[in-house]
Amino acid sequence: MKPLCLDILKLGNPRLRSQALPLDMPLNQAQHRLIEQLIDRMQASNGVGIAAPQVGIPWQIIIVASRPTLRYPQAPRMEPIAMINPQILEDGGEQIQDWEGCLSVPNMRGLVTRAQHVTVRYHDLAAGCQCERFSGFIARIIQHEYDHLQGRLFVDRVKQSADLITEDEYQKLLIS
Ligand SMILES: [Zn+2]
Repeated sequence: MKPLCLDILKLGNPRLRSQALPLDMPLNQAQHRLIEQLIDRMQASNGVGIAAPQVGIPWQIIIVASRPTLRYPQAPRMEPIAMINPQILEDGGEQIQDWEGCLSVPNMRGLVTRAQHVTVRYHDLAAGCQCERFSGFIARIIQHEYDHLQGRLFVDRVKQSADLITEDEYQKLLIS
């Protein structure tokens, strides 16, 4: 395994609370390298997404990488997508409540309501402008990671403190 050189900032670190900045396109070599490291870091932590502010980089970069998990056995498996300067143009469909976790909020899960669909415009690694619609679990990941770019965390979106539980209790829910 490659050495992990990026540390994940944790809840309480003020850098998780700042607004991320847009990047000029095309990306330079160091920025491409950073994106590779973000993907490595996310995969090493078994994450399905990560945002640059989570490693202390105040740029508008998110990685979206759905794959089947215990909780979402039907989640699509996809190659990680790097979205640079993403903008959610539209969200719609049902409002769906489900459990979320975050690499920056270890050992916790929260019930969060998200839109079923999002349309997102972003720059890809080749500096092309993409506009795509996503649904379900992938739409949830995008909304979660996009929040990181605004300095928001999923704990800000739970309706009540009773909707925050530990990972241990969450695992019990899964098998009950
Ligand atoms: Zn997160």
